Amino acid sequence: MIRGLKVKEYSSGRAGITRLIVGGMHGREYEASRKILDKIKPNPSEGRVIVVPNINISGRRYVSTMNANYIKSPAGRVYLSILERYKPDVVVELHAFNSKSYKNLVSSDRIYKKGVPRLIPYRSDLPIEDRILHGGPPPFVKDRFKEKFKEHASYITLEIHEKYGKEAERTLRFIINSVINCNSVKEIREKLRERHRESMGEAGRLLLDYLSRAD
Ligand SMILES: [Zn+2]
Repeated sequence: MIRGLKVKEYSSGRAGITRLIVGGMHGREYEASRKILDKIKPNPSEGRVIVVPNINISGRRYVSTMNANYIKSPAGRVYLSILERYKPDVVVELHAFNSKSYKNLVSSDRIYKKGVPRLIPYRSDLPIEDRILHGGPPPFVKDRFKEKFKEHASYITLEIHEKYGKEAERTLRFIINSVINCNSVKEIREKLRERHRESMGEAGRLLLDYLSRAD
């Protein structure tokens, strides 16, 4: 559909939810997420899994997904066309952070500065390279797809460290496998709660508040 864009589709041949897993949202994030996204071979029992390892095929400079102009950037336009074409029920949006940007991502000011809640680490007892942060949809997705992604864990934004460690990789695999192997948003949410109850509770409360805000 778009020249040079790699889209991998894994269908169960049965009805069910569409899960979209995307990386390389902007800048050079692809370099961090490709190690995982190039390797996974989903085998869902129902529905399908769409994997797009690199949205930013143009290689253009960084435009934040929080920025209203993201959707006009080459990467943003590619991403929007994927959302419109595949109409996913569940999205995993994979980003990479560095040690310097960590503080801003988890700061409670983020809702005022960027219009989205702070991200929550699944585990905060680990060194920064092994932490994975999670949150909900970015503003343009929330505004554009008003009826979708209301349920917690239907849209999972993840931030992994650009030089992530073994423990982070384990957590990331657990999350991605939960999304691939569960057959509803509720099931995914329950699965993630089994291992990360406190963190999921906190993120769920922040999401509810975010979704109830006027645009
Ligand atoms: Zn990013």
